[in-house]
Amino acid sequence: MPELPEVETIKKDLEKLIVGRKVLGIETNSPKQVQPSLEIARKAIVGMTIKKVQRRAKILQIFFSNGSIIIIHLKLTGRLLVRKKGDKSDDWQHITVSLSGGKELRFADSRKFGWFRLLKNETELKKILKEFGPEPLDDLTLPVFQKILSSTSRPVKIILMDPKRISGVGNIYASEALFLAGIDPRRAANKIKPEVQKLYEALEKVLKLGLKYRGASDQYYLDALGRKGAYQEHFLVYGRQKKKCLVCSDLIKRIVLGGRGTFYCSTCQK
Ligand SMILES: [Zn+2]
Repeated sequence: MPELPEVETIKKDLEKLIVGRKVLGIETNSPKQVQPSLEIARKAIVGMTIKKVQRRAKILQIFFSNGSIIIIHLKLTGRLLVRKKGDKSDDWQHITVSLSGGKELRFADSRKFGWFRLLKNETELKKILKEFGPEPLDDLTLPVFQKILSSTSRPVKIILMDPKRISGVGNIYASEALFLAGIDPRRAANKIKPEVQKLYEALEKVLKLGLKYRGASDQYYLDALGRKGAYQEHFLVYGRQKKKCLVCSDLIKRIVLGGRGTFYCSTCQK
């Protein structure tokens, strides 16, 4: 699933590629993914100009000149692609927004769990975004992080990935950060007090690396121009089960924690 670095990379691409363009039309072959409906979305945004693009947690927001907003969640397999009108269609292309200047914004999604939702105004947006925890690389300060971890005895990896507690961190960045900090993903969050700062710094480091490499394309993720990211080439534990740990040469293990594949080195992570 695209996480903070992947969604942020797409956001930055969209800022360059679609801001200032006017919406000429919107079509879909997957009506359930356009909310509340294609007709309502069409009435709201056709003829409007795109004013800005933002990200909060894993949610992209496109603001229009009449105050309406489209929010998009890519979920497991979603892609947002900016193509020229007439370019060959993309795999799993389900929503097409025609833009001025001969461009199209395409929402492609193999599994169809992603959504594209019209909001009337910023009040509606604020209501949705207040459900999310603080943003790493922004308002997730060390004291806030300490407080989040000390409040629960659930496994630390599950807490890192809980969007209500911390925004934008999923399986890849949680696994990599725990490895860098030398912490076993199953440890109780409130029992890692001595290493909290190390984990905080590791989380910041892996997210910044993810941004530097323009995201991880181990699965479906592509940027807005359809290019792969490169962070998967730098994974230390994620997806490396039965391969040698790059630090101690013992074999990386895979367990299931909270229903998700979890990768770690039992020698380096305690
Ligand atoms: Zn190791």
